[in-house]
Amino acid sequence: FKIPTPYNEPVLSYAPGSGERTQLKAALTEARSKQIEVPMYIGGEKVLTDRKVALRPPHDHQHILGYYSQGSKEHVTQAINAALAAKAKWEDLAWEQRAAIFLKAADLIAGPYRAKLNAATMLGQSKSAYQAEIDSACEIIDFLRFNVAYMTEIYSQQVDSAKGVWNRIEQRPLEGFVFALTPFNFTAIAGNLPTSAALMGNVVVWKPANTQIYAANVLMEVFREAGVPDGVINLVYVSGPDAGDVIFKHPDFAGIHFTGSTEVFQNIWKEIGNNIHRYKTYPRIVGETGGKDFILVHGSADVDVANTALVRGAFEYQGQKCSAASRAYIAKSIWPSVKELMVKDIASFKIGPVENFENFINAVIDEKSFDKLAKYIDNAKADPNVEILAGGTYDKSKGYFINPTVIVAKDPKYVTMCEELFGPVLTIFVYDDAQFDETLKLIDTTSIYALTGAVIAQDRYAIDQATHALRNAAGNFYINDKCTGAVVGQQPFGGARGSGTNDKAGSMINLLRWVSPRTIKETF
Ligand code: GLU
Repeated sequence: FKIPTPYNEPVLSYAPGSGERTQLKAALTEARSKQIEVPMYIGGEKVLTDRKVALRPPHDHQHILGYYSQGSKEHVTQAINAALAAKAKWEDLAWEQRAAIFLKAADLIAGPYRAKLNAATMLGQSKSAYQAEIDSACEIIDFLRFNVAYMTEIYSQQVDSAKGVWNRIEQRPLEGFVFALTPFNFTAIAGNLPTSAALMGNVVVWKPANTQIYAANVLMEVFREAGVPDGVINLVYVSGPDAGDVIFKHPDFAGIHFTGSTEVFQNIWKEIGNNIHRYKTYPRIVGETGGKDFILVHGSADVDVANTALVRGAFEYQGQKCSAASRAYIAKSIWPSVKELMVKDIASFKIGPVENFENFINAVIDEKSFDKLAKYIDNAKADPNVEILAGGTYDKSKGYFINPTVIVAKDPKYVTMCEELFGPVLTIFVYDDAQFDETLKLIDTTSIYALTGAVIAQDRYAIDQATHALRNAAGNFYINDKCTGAVVGQQPFGGARGSGTNDKAGSMINLLRWVSPRTIKETF
């Protein structure tokens, strides 16, 4: 079979007067006008419980969008049983039939569900229209289409055979079920983690972050309409400990597809290790975790390019991308001009709810995150060794708003240069131009993470030197660009060190983790 050639879904503009803007505004109004009941999905059944939890927009926490049903350990067991019951039929389904389901899901999101899914991401996760479009429209569509293409490449890979022999490779799904544990910050990731494993013939138990359930529910509607059979993807809303207690003790646990914090991932890894004797097979552990992503500005940099990379890299989606720039190293010679541009730009940012498309900065995800960020900011304000160049203020009366904050630290190991904050806070260290080599070393050794990073320079020797010296400091490295916004099919995404297993989301490497090959030799 030749599958449809994958292509990147074009990003719509949402310009005033455009059809997509009208549709999105209507979807937002519709979503705000009612309160929905959000069920779990187990074996194709919608499951409601008596424990209702309110879903609220982070930028308007008094408003209720609906209620989800909180499940228990019992529901996790049911979801595993439903997955295992669906397994034999699903893995025997011809791969092109599985491909067709997920290609249809991509087209449903590109067309009839686009406005609804974007509106859900905007309201549930406080994303601007543009940030929602590149996530819950383009990126998830791209994941679905490109993964189908990678799958066909995997299935067509074969081995040579000597005379009188026929060797074959059979790509089997994993023996058991896969657990998808998904984050709040990208609807695309929430959709990709269960579907990539399912595409390769696996059955899945999916637990999204509580703060992403509103859009996860729409994704599940899409998957159902696209034809994902009952039990192949089961969606449960349970606490982490409830899920972990059942899943990691189950003999059929075959793998985890994770995006979230480094701490949680490390605990899961330990838990899997402690239970290793229980499993039929060594589970696949695939995870993308934290980041402390850097931008290095060389003295030869174009000031406009540097400023754009810094402000967009640090503040789009309130800095809540794992890839967001949160530490910058700027050459002293160029600092005054970069500083001037940044301060001017940040002062022009509009802050507020997502419903007003002019707002560039919306709320951070929840009160816990807000309080954590406020604490770091307060500590910085009280520290005589750091300067607050912009922001430093916050307000949670209506929504969890943190003004984009720039901290300039005298000490390159200042706490906000090292720790992941996951919010709109950028810390800058101004280095002496003559200390470029030392700065490279500093960048490489300051944090435990290695997800993304960027060098902004025009001097080709500096670019070359940074690219080489920082080769282990980032899984996605950018030259003269911001360190966010990887595009599926173009920049496979993921990092090593404390940032994950680097199994590149949206790549053949990733899909290969969800199959277990069998080599067959037949002698004639
Ligand atoms: N792929 C996203 C980017 O390149 C980041 C994903 C994440 O935050 O986990 O910006």
